Amino acid sequence: MIGIIGCGASGMMAAICAARAGRQVTVLEHNDRPGRKLAVTGNGHCNLTNDNQTQEAYRTADPEIASRILATFSKEELLAFFRQIGVLTRDKNGYWYPYSGNAQTVVAALSAEMKRLGVRVLYGADTQSVIRLADGRYVVRAQVGSEMREMTFDRLVLACGGPAGDKLGQSDFGFRALRRLSVAVSNYAPALVPLQLDNPHSKMIAGVRMEAEVTLRADGAEHSERGEIVWTEYGVSGIPVMQVSRFASMAFKAREAASRGMDSGAYGRYAADASGRESGPVTITIRMMPDHTAEQIREITEEMLTSARFASEAAASVLGGMADAKIVRWILLLAGVPEDAACREISPDTRAMIADLFTRIELPVTGVRTYAQAQTTCGGVPLTEINPETMESYRCRGLYITGELLDVDGTCGGYNLHWAFATGAAAGRALGENR
Ligand SMILES: Cc1cc2nc3c(=O)[nH]c(=O)nc-3n(C[C@H](O)[C@H](O)[C@H](O)COP(=O)(O)OP(=O)(O)OC[C@H]3O[C@@H](n4cnc5c(N)ncnc54)[C@H](O)[C@@H]3O)c2cc1C
Repeated sequence: MIGIIGCGASGMMAAICAARAGRQVTVLEHNDRPGRKLAVTGNGHCNLTNDNQTQEAYRTADPEIASRILATFSKEELLAFFRQIGVLTRDKNGYWYPYSGNAQTVVAALSAEMKRLGVRVLYGADTQSVIRLADGRYVVRAQVGSEMREMTFDRLVLACGGPAGDKLGQSDFGFRALRRLSVAVSNYAPALVPLQLDNPHSKMIAGVRMEAEVTLRADGAEHSERGEIVWTEYGVSGIPVMQVSRFASMAFKAREAASRGMDSGAYGRYAADASGRESGPVTITIRMMPDHTAEQIREITEEMLTSARFASEAAASVLGGMADAKIVRWILLLAGVPEDAACREISPDTRAMIADLFTRIELPVTGVRTYAQAQTTCGGVPLTEINPETMESYRCRGLYITGELLDVDGTCGGYNLHWAFATGAAAGRALGENR
């Protein structure tokens, strides 16, 4: 008998693959329905996978092992699997979604396939502990309603995800259980998450969306992304910010661990040095007009502010063609220009400063937002802890680990679900072959 904890993306895939090979499978899920997180992915549209399967899309301390695992479940295989269970898919510029555009279609199809195969799913079953018996079997204690149930399984899959997400049933139970079973778990932290900034003027620009290039600097490395950012009261969000956020998250986690005298685990390599001394602040640089060079921005600013036609008009309104009015007011404030100053009152040095601010603004990052605002978890079980063909723990034989619990976090674009399905399939197939 196989037990699977978690009826999410990787748990359902593992259950289906094992049951297809004739195994008896029981899934324990503490929510009252399957795939609650899956059902909200991609803003309810579910970005399943991506054409562009590069190593860089999957962030991990062990990229070679991640690539080996991913090679066992290609994008084509994933799409064929969904077609087989009745989910047609469509491609939007390399990003794959269910044809219906509705994540619930994916959840319903996985759930229906489990039912067809006779997989038993216990909803409302909140797993509280996992114990490994001397004979290698696993005892799972789960609160089901008012009753505490004990179930024994020959093999167990931990597919209970990480703490990222908001009120979707997510938890860090998996990491806690694994540590108790003596499986190594490196520090884990929120990823694909907005950033908190030290910006005294954040309130005046909150809500503004704009195209920008962002560059995060943390512990001597730089990571850049381009796209639409959103300024918020606490800092900044938007896809490019989320994409680079894990490097800030890792830097802060490593420092926190080092300051507590703890092993900074997989994050060690990102820490300033072994003693945990900080290697400078974490910062983000925003290029607001990413399709213009610094020279072009300087020319435009000069042209606007020195034109005879605009000389007596307020600089704030004349520069309104370059950015949102709130951003222009912020830049003038930073350059020390009074809000109602006319163009002709602005000195050449101040004009140069305004052009520089349009070109790049650097702000200190003070932290990342909480798991509730994160889409995934970085860190977790190092890939060196598992057999990459089966997902079985080297330390705890008969225990399989999938999805977000493993030290791989994908970038936005369907990579996290691809990873969850790929690892679920690897575990389920191995269980089916009795490996
Ligand atoms: C808002 C949001 C949007 C996202 N959009 C995308 C996207 O478009 N594309 C993409 O690739 N990725 C996306 N992701 C990430 C993706 O959803 C996850 O990476 C993926 O679901 C992880 O799969 P998993 O099987 O590891 O865990 P999950 O899918 O989270 O499943 C874990 C299951 O275990 C259950 N569980 C937890 N603890 C217990 C317990 N103690 N007892 C019993 N059950 C338990 C949970 O309720 C859950 O059902 C998004 C995430 C969020 C939060």
